[in-house]
Amino acid sequence: MGLATARQLLHHYPGITVSVLEKEPEPGQHQTGHNSGVLHCGLYYTPGSLKARLAVEGIRQMAEFCSLHNIPHEICGKLVVATNEAEATRMEKLYQRGKANGLEGLEKLDQNQMREIEPHVGGIAALKVPQEGIVDYPAVVMALVREIESLGGQIITNAKVNGLLLIAIIAAITLVHRTQVNSKKQNITDQINVQAKDRMRFASIDKKSTKEPK
Ligand SMILES: Cc1cc2nc3c(=O)[nH]c(=O)nc-3n(C[C@H](O)[C@H](O)[C@H](O)COP(=O)(O)OP(=O)(O)OC[C@H]3O[C@@H](n4cnc5c(N)ncnc54)[C@H](O)[C@@H]3O)c2cc1C
Repeated sequence: MGLATARQLLHHYPGITVSVLEKEPEPGQHQTGHNSGVLHCGLYYTPGSLKARLAVEGIRQMAEFCSLHNIPHEICGKLVVATNEAEATRMEKLYQRGKANGLEGLEKLDQNQMREIEPHVGGIAALKVPQEGIVDYPAVVMALVREIESLGGQIITNAKVNGLLLIAIIAAITLVHRTQVNSKKQNITDQINVQAKDRMRFASIDKKSTKEPK
């Protein structure tokens, strides 16, 4: 989310200065780098909700992004499997929901039909969702980093945000601009602290810093 937001900002407002503060030595060390790698297409969400609309549009945009950056991905479809009668009833609701969300090619499969697709699957029935896929999310993270940097943004690693005192987009832009002006990299965390104390009381990102404001 942080990297994707930074990328969008740079596309929408060319020329602005954007810095992503990352507490780890590398981006993608938490959820995004360790999730199931599924490209979701909105099956589970309430029809008409923002989440449903974003999922449908999001998978299209993600597939486009992956093709552009040669990121391994595949719209291979997915089976949602019901292991008992209660789950089969819930699956019927998912089917209706998916259709209401505009998903194409949804199919209800019995046990034999689903085993033609995946012979080792257990369960009594399945829903085939052809529009879903898989992707290498760590590769997505690295592509986002490269694109952000090519658009003039920067990822500052080992920079933990410890608190935000005032949230205002103008202040945020001013803050990252000032850190760039004072661009001695080894002092960046201290400098952001100085800005926070001195000028805007906006953020304090490194509580261990002992450097006094100039
Ligand atoms: C088990 C599981 C499986 C999932 N499977 C899928 C899936 O298949 N498909 C899918 O689309 N979604 C899946 N998700 C959801 C998806 O992974 C998350 O929605 C997504 O990764 C969230 O991205 P994020 O950028 O918000 O968080 P993260 O990827 O966790 O990134 C947050 C970043 O912020 C940094 N950070 C945190 N605190 C600070 C701080 N104080 N200062 C500076 N930096 C900080 C972290 O180091 C990290 O790099 C899954 C989630 C889980 C839990």
